[in-house]
Amino acid sequence: MIAFAYIEPESLEEALALLEQHGEDAKVLAGGTGLVNLMKQRLVQPAYLIGLRQLARRPELAEIRPSGSLTIGALCSHRTIETSALIQRRLPLLATTFQHVASVRIRTAATMGGSLAHADPNQDPPPALLVLDARVRVQSSHGEREIELSDFFVDYYETVLEPDELITAVIIPPQPAGAGTSFFKFLPQTHDDYATIAVAARVSLDGDTILHPRIALGAAAATPLRARTVEAALQGQTPTPAIIRDAAALVAEEVDPLADFRGSAEYKRDMAIVFTQRAIEQAVTQATANH
Ligand SMILES: Cc1cc2nc3c(=O)[nH]c(=O)nc-3n(C[C@H](O)[C@H](O)[C@H](O)COP(=O)(O)OP(=O)(O)OC[C@H]3O[C@@H](n4cnc5c(N)ncnc54)[C@H](O)[C@@H]3O)c2cc1C
Repeated sequence: MIAFAYIEPESLEEALALLEQHGEDAKVLAGGTGLVNLMKQRLVQPAYLIGLRQLARRPELAEIRPSGSLTIGALCSHRTIETSALIQRRLPLLATTFQHVASVRIRTAATMGGSLAHADPNQDPPPALLVLDARVRVQSSHGEREIELSDFFVDYYETVLEPDELITAVIIPPQPAGAGTSFFKFLPQTHDDYATIAVAARVSLDGDTILHPRIALGAAAATPLRARTVEAALQGQTPTPAIIRDAAALVAEEVDPLADFRGSAEYKRDMAIVFTQRAIEQAVTQATANH
C-alpha cells in the first residue's frame, strides 16, 4: 500500500466537505472489506482515506426506518440488515439475501452503502435490491439526489456516483400486495464464496395473472442486471410450467458472464437459465400462498 492520510470526520457535513475538497484523490472507508483489498493490490491508491466510523452514530446513516417506504441507512451493516426483525417481517427477501454474504465476520463489517458503491458484479445484495425497485439516496455539499438502482451501475466496479457524493441511504418502496420473492445463490464451491450465478425474483398475482415481475442477476455480467426480456415474457401471463420455462430461457440473451475459476461463460449462462426458472417458480409459489 502507498502512504495516505487518514481522516475521520465527526459529521456528515464535514465528510461531504472533505470529499468536495479532495475529489478523486479521496475515498471513503465504510466496512473496509472491499476497499482495503483493492488498496493492498494497488488497484486504488487514494491520497486521502475518509473513515466513516464516527458517522455510524447518526440515525439517518445507521438506522432502518419504516414508513410507507423502508429506508436503510448506508452505514447499516449486512449483519444488522440480516437480523433486523423489521426487515425479516417486511422484506424477508433482504434478510435471506444478506445472510448469504460470505461469513458473519465479513457481514458484521460490510455496509449497505459499500455493497453498492463497490460495484463488484458478484455481490449478492444488488440483485435482491433491484427486484425490490430500490433507490439510492446520495448527498454532496451541493445537495441530495435519488437514483433508481437500475440506473446506478455503469460497468465493472463503476457507478454513476460523482467523486464528491456519498450514499446516505437506500429506499425500498412499498411492494405490490401479496408479492412473492426468492433469491438463489449458486455456489458449488465453499459456503462463503461469491456466487457462480445469483438470481432474485419478485412476482405478484392478480387471480391467475402475473403482474409486476422483476428478475435480476448477479455474477452474470459486468454489472448486476435486470432481465427485462424475461420480465416482459411473464407480465400478464398465467404462470404455467411452460410459460415459466420459456421465459427463463430468455435470460441466456441477457447475461454476459465472465469466465473464471467458478466456471466458463457457457456454464454460467446455462446455470443462469436453471436458477432463473427456479427463482420464478419459488416466487410464484410464495405469491400463490400469499393470495
Ligand atoms: C473474503 C470476502 C468475501 C466476500 N464475499 C462476499 C459475497 O459472497 N457476497 C457479497 O455480496 N459480498 C461479499 N463480500 C463483501 C463485498 O465484496 C464488499 O467488500 C462489501 O460489500 C463492501 O462493503 P464495505 O462497507 O466493507 O465497503 P468498503 O470496503 O469500505 O468500500 C468499498 C467501496 O465503496 C465505497 N463506499 C463505501 N461506503 C460508501 C458510501 N456510503 N458512499 C459512497 N461510497 C462508499 C468506498 O469508497 C469503496 O470504493 C466479501 C468480502 C470479502 C473480504
